[in-house]
Amino acid sequence: MSISENIHKIKAQIPPQVKLIAVSKTKPNSSVLEAYNSGHKVFGENKVQDLILKQKDLPKDIEWHFIGHLQRNKVKNIAPFVSLIHAVDSLRLLSKINEEALKNDRIINCLMQMHIADESSKFGLHINELKEILSSEEYLSMKGIKIKGLMGMATYTENREQIKQEFDSLRNSFQEIKNEFFKNSDDFKDISMGMSGDFDIAIESGSSMVRIGSIIFGER
Ligand SMILES: *Cc1c(COP(=O)(O)O)cnc(C)c1O
Repeated sequence: MSISENIHKIKAQIPPQVKLIAVSKTKPNSSVLEAYNSGHKVFGENKVQDLILKQKDLPKDIEWHFIGHLQRNKVKNIAPFVSLIHAVDSLRLLSKINEEALKNDRIINCLMQMHIADESSKFGLHINELKEILSSEEYLSMKGIKIKGLMGMATYTENREQIKQEFDSLRNSFQEIKNEFFKNSDDFKDISMGMSGDFDIAIESGSSMVRIGSIIFGER
């Protein structure tokens, strides 16, 4: 099947309010263009260098999402154009994004990455760490970022029950954080969870954004 047929098929399996991020990492510009020409305009990359090269060469109305681990010294390279940064996991990174957003006269949308997988994964915040960030003077004074929700990655396992529990725990954290910190704000609304192998489970658990690569573009 072609890239556009794959996208079509996935869109038919997800509710209309769930956003599809086509993860084009390691794939050539021609693959992105094939998806673009069939009408899809939202793409995700996980390496800064690849993202800036693609952004430079591809159509300017593409909405680029950064989905990988972001180093502070590279924020400046994507700050002028990035649409959403999915995996912010510290106050220091948030502060750098804020600084670069202000230099570019914009507000950068961010998701906070939560640790939901088992101990084999070291990325992401625990809920108490996130609460500490959201309570800090430094965060409260930031004018260049908007926290739109949470992101998480489940354990890489065949055990679908475990994956379900991990996604449910992310949804529960989202509710708790929303009630405690964003009660009167419509900004905090997204849960980015679900990839090629587990997006159906993520949607059952309340995902609003799925990040899908290999079942669109082929194995990497
Ligand atoms: C690569 C990647 C994806 C997509 O993975 P697939 O299994 O190819 O769908 C999603 N999220 C993140 C953070 C990734 O790095």
